[in-house]
Amino acid sequence: MDLVELLPTLHQLRLGTGNAYLWRERDALTLIDTGTPGSGDDIRGAIETLGRTLGDLRQVIVTHGHYDHWGALSEIAANATIMVHGADAPVVRGETSQQLPLLAGMPDWERTLYENLPPMPPPTPARVDQELADGDVLDFGGGAEVIAIPGHTDGSIAIHLPAHRLLFAGDTVANVNGNTMLGVFNSDPAAAAGSFRRLSELDLSMVCVGHGDPVTPDASSRLREVATRL
Ligand SMILES: [Zn+2]
Ligand SMILES: [Zn+2]
Repeated sequence: MDLVELLPTLHQLRLGTGNAYLWRERDALTLIDTGTPGSGDDIRGAIETLGRTLGDLRQVIVTHGHYDHWGALSEIAANATIMVHGADAPVVRGETSQQLPLLAGMPDWERTLYENLPPMPPPTPARVDQELADGDVLDFGGGAEVIAIPGHTDGSIAIHLPAHRLLFAGDTVANVNGNTMLGVFNSDPAAAAGSFRRLSELDLSMVCVGHGDPVTPDASSRLREVATRL
């Protein structure tokens, strides 16, 4: 696990298959996504490296219901408020399985990636303390706005911190090997493209993605350039 400082208040946790992000503010920590099942020790270690403890974790925001984004919730969030969009909350509660991508029309390169994914059994379910909806404003980062971005999954969300020109985009944006793109494995690819376009209209200096490196410094231009090709 690599811990990368992106801003004095923001660290990226590279958890193998994907990223989680830790926002530090006063005494409170906010975690965005958790990685796969078994990532709990890495998350605890990252928090302790920053001089805090798991008890300082005030809230965990899940960008969407795919197992690699909330798999460690049951390991780390005993005392934190767990927040998930209402459409994906049943997945986290273990009431239904994660959404699968639409295979019809999927390009060959993406299908090859998908067919070579390691199998991932469902994580230990977790409670959801707060179901999120578009337009909700959360109490960190000067006001963190929830933006519903359906398409990757029905309940995918982005978290926008206008005061920092910062966005957490989940899997709707990917940035792998310098290639900024619409994320893969979408349940509704047309809706995902529309959600990407909505995000590209924001004024952003940095976009934190589920897979790959943050898009920065001029994130808005990069997103708009990609959006013109969708
Ligand atoms: Zn996903
Ligand atoms: Zn993912």
